[in-house]
Amino acid sequence: MGRIHVLSEHVANKIAAGEVVERPASVLKELLENSLDAGAMRIKVQIEGGGKKLIQVTDDGCGMLRDDALLAFERHATSKIKDAEDLLNIDTLGFRGEALPSIGAVSRVALQTRAAEESSGTVLEIAGGKILKVEESGLPAGTSIAVRDLFFNTPARKKFLKAESTELSHLASLVTHYALAHPEKHFELHSATNAMLIAAPVQSHSDRIYQIFGKDILDQLVSVSVQMPLERVGLPEPPPWRREEGYERPEPGEIKVHGFVSKPEIQKLNRNSIFIFVNGRLVRDRLIQHALTEAYRNILPPTVYPVVLLFIELPHGEVDANVHPAKTEVRFRQHGFVHDFVRDSVRAALIKARPVPQFTREITAQPTAAPGFSPGAQAQPRSDPGNEFQLQAQPQDPVTERLQFSGAPIPVEANAAVSGFGAVPAPTLQQVERSDDACGNLLAEDDEDAQPASNLAFDSLRPLGQIRDSFILAVSSDGLWIIDQHVAHERVLFEKVLRERKDVADGQRLLMPLIVELTPGQQAVFAEISDELRRNGFEVELFGARTIAVKTAPAGVQPVEIDKMLLELLDQFQKEEQVLNLDKIRHKIAASIACHAAIKINTPLEQNKMEWLLKELAKTECPMTCPHGRPVMLRYSLKEIQRAFKRI
Ligand code: ADP
Ligand code: MG
Repeated sequence: MGRIHVLSEHVANKIAAGEVVERPASVLKELLENSLDAGAMRIKVQIEGGGKKLIQVTDDGCGMLRDDALLAFERHATSKIKDAEDLLNIDTLGFRGEALPSIGAVSRVALQTRAAEESSGTVLEIAGGKILKVEESGLPAGTSIAVRDLFFNTPARKKFLKAESTELSHLASLVTHYALAHPEKHFELHSATNAMLIAAPVQSHSDRIYQIFGKDILDQLVSVSVQMPLERVGLPEPPPWRREEGYERPEPGEIKVHGFVSKPEIQKLNRNSIFIFVNGRLVRDRLIQHALTEAYRNILPPTVYPVVLLFIELPHGEVDANVHPAKTEVRFRQHGFVHDFVRDSVRAALIKARPVPQFTREITAQPTAAPGFSPGAQAQPRSDPGNEFQLQAQPQDPVTERLQFSGAPIPVEANAAVSGFGAVPAPTLQQVERSDDACGNLLAEDDEDAQPASNLAFDSLRPLGQIRDSFILAVSSDGLWIIDQHVAHERVLFEKVLRERKDVADGQRLLMPLIVELTPGQQAVFAEISDELRRNGFEVELFGARTIAVKTAPAGVQPVEIDKMLLELLDQFQKEEQVLNLDKIRHKIAASIACHAAIKINTPLEQNKMEWLLKELAKTECPMTCPHGRPVMLRYSLKEIQRAFKRI
């Protein structure tokens, strides 16, 4: 007898379950997606025991016909696609027909469903893949699926589950994000003891953010909204000889990116607060994550991450969702284009918002509003409520510990923040034309109205003096500002270097060539960036096998700093894991020159020098952060001053 045999359906389902159902949150994701695919407008989720005991999703969607209800638990049974061609054009969240049989194989499922066109509904019970009961019953239209005792028959899997509170926080985060993605729908999340989220339908995404998290969180975010027609080139079309008569080229459609990204002062230590939806599907996508990192380059330090809620919409034929059993990954047909489009859109929005760090950047927890980015986040009292005047904004301070998408599972009051709803105008969504230099373009057509109020008086800053010869104190009509003189000058020089970079830049000629010895690794990097160094004022020649001779260096850099700077640069590039692109090389070199040529701290400055610096800073594209992503200035607004003096 042969040694190979075909596995039974039962075993096959358990294997598939291993891929689809990893933890309670994966069950909930599939159920939520089914409800959304069914066109539901109201979705209610009930959780017990961190989802290990019960996950129940009730919707008012199209429901299932009696025969379909049974079929739904067969493997590869779906109402969403018919043939392989449909795979190229998936407009539903589900399509694999694997979720229900997989879930049914590793839990006890109770299904109640009625299609609107039938007078009675169906009740179905399945445990460990076996049908226990099928009955007709009077039911409301829609579907309710209760999943109990997850992994009861796969103890090995069960062992991997985390604490109830951890699983609950994942579940809460998931519902929150689908609620954020669909503001027009009603979402509810209940645990055994309380209502964790109740979100009635609202008009827009920003209304939803306000509704769930409150005004403070909304204020920390910059809105992005850009759309662009897709080029006609490279559309997926049959070759001419296979086209039917009267064939019309498909409309290229357009790509749209909208959503919210956090201001630079928000710094997260991991990517857990980055949420990306592609055509309504929540995905983890490395391409988009890379685009975001690029967008924040020189705005955020490289080791921290922003908070992002981004929706990317493009024609279904442009995205392949059939990449991963849990459908958490996608592939873009024109990936380079999508990457650059997202990068430029986000960067332009960030630069346009020119956010300035505030003195009191802590978010006060409001008793009625949701305090964190997750309905599970915890409201902590401020450590020292009377101390608002303190200059507490440290650049790396994770101020927004509470501003996160997934947090500890402490429930938030139901209907949080809904009471004051409507008081806050939605941020203006900008329509942005894409261009190669999105930033420059945008600033040229700067319209003051769209600017946050905090930036209005920025141009009229008047310096008063220095603190410890390091920080410039300045006033404008809307408050008090403290500017870090070194990073401010760094920003000015950084943009200047980038602007003035040319084929052969003039540098300062050194009296004696500076001989620098390189390791083999540094030599390799040097070979790659030497062209760009030359464009920035370096004249460097190979001098022996392992040494180089620097004859000219960029103006402004002290001769004693030149070799240190060069070696620093080479080491930085060596650490890069990604292939170097010209853009990155340019920015790094410019940042390095700026850093070494900028005014140091502990340097006394004359009044006119301070005035000059502030004026130059106001002209820059990103006056709020240095090229390494640190804040340049802090502001204490007039309102905050008045509040502190109890005048308002
Ligand atoms: P898929 O979503 O990939 O089609 P599933 O196993 O998740 O596969 O679901 C199988 C089928 O069951 C779906 O195609 C759909 O017709 C039906 N279904 C599942 N959930 C619902 C629901 N909440 N409302 C209506 N129909 C549903
Ligand atoms: Mg599904």
